[in-house]
Amino acid sequence: MPFPTMRAIVMESFGEPEVLKLVDVPAPDPAPDELAVAVEAVSINRSFDLLVRRDGNNRDVVLPHVLGADPAGTVVAVGADVDGYSPGDRVTVSSTIRCGNCRECRDGDEAACRRSVHIGVDRWGGYAERVAVPASNAHRIPEGMSAADACVIVRHAPAAYNQLIDKTALRPGEWVLVMGAAGALGSFCVQVAKALDGRVIAAAGSDDRVEAALLLGADHGVNYRANDLADTVRGITDGEGVDVVCENIGDPGLWDGAFDSMAQRGRLVTMGAHGGGRVGLDVRKLYAKRLRLIGSAGVTKKNIDESLAAGSRGALTVLIDSIHPLESAAAQHRRLEADRSIVGKVILDPTLAA
Ligand SMILES: [Zn+2]
Repeated sequence: MPFPTMRAIVMESFGEPEVLKLVDVPAPDPAPDELAVAVEAVSINRSFDLLVRRDGNNRDVVLPHVLGADPAGTVVAVGADVDGYSPGDRVTVSSTIRCGNCRECRDGDEAACRRSVHIGVDRWGGYAERVAVPASNAHRIPEGMSAADACVIVRHAPAAYNQLIDKTALRPGEWVLVMGAAGALGSFCVQVAKALDGRVIAAAGSDDRVEAALLLGADHGVNYRANDLADTVRGITDGEGVDVVCENIGDPGLWDGAFDSMAQRGRLVTMGAHGGGRVGLDVRKLYAKRLRLIGSAGVTKKNIDESLAAGSRGALTVLIDSIHPLESAAAQHRRLEADRSIVGKVILDPTLAA
């Protein structure tokens, strides 16, 4: 084999960023239904990587472990049973592996699989020169798209399509409030809502982040740390409120503002709880205003295809903070933990020299 060993960031234990150690390990060969990919980009995810590194995040992580949910790069080996891929193909990898067997999978509701597992959590991920992944998780990178853009798009944009098309069925002209609008998911929610002819209010926790979201095409911006969110939203919408809220934070200090921003028959969709996850719910407003709250983990292949097609058309701006060699993994984990104000994704590129 041309690739008997590889450099990888291997965790032997959970804990501080120092547990992320660059070592040489055997390079994986693909199983019959897998591809081996030479990684050119993988993002550092707060939700998966930082939390899994710290304590496993209540997932059944087996040590030693390699993080990295969304590797993108070039196919270097193809499993015996895989059709349609050859060495040299450029692919990006979606993290969720569905069971194919649960009631939701059998119903054809692939986004709702109850036993899905994740690359970089339940098996070794892409903080490495090479990763083996199920061929069904690979998606061709469109011509002209960088591996870094492809990995960020496939990681976050499909959820924006899922929330705004599949879950809330946004209609042209409707108002959308995007919380965390400069974040990885929020930045795509802003852009997808605009592409669907929504009217978008970008909400974020600092003036810089509001400004970043306005540059992505939002019609209005509000800093929810400095203003009363619901009052501001009512002011913008002639007193009506918004039809859709992309919430995705779960912060008890921000929830009421987002909830109270909804118009009659509003729907709030959410995935993610990095703000804490336990919030107060005003049930009277829920029923009196006929509101709907929608939980939305998971995406479909159609969402992924739509995202890559939009990226290929130049319709998605990808916010990338910086790109680093593999050996910077620990330092970049430390930086992301210390600084919540970073706008854009931090990427590792195992082909870069230190
Ligand atoms: Zn399933």
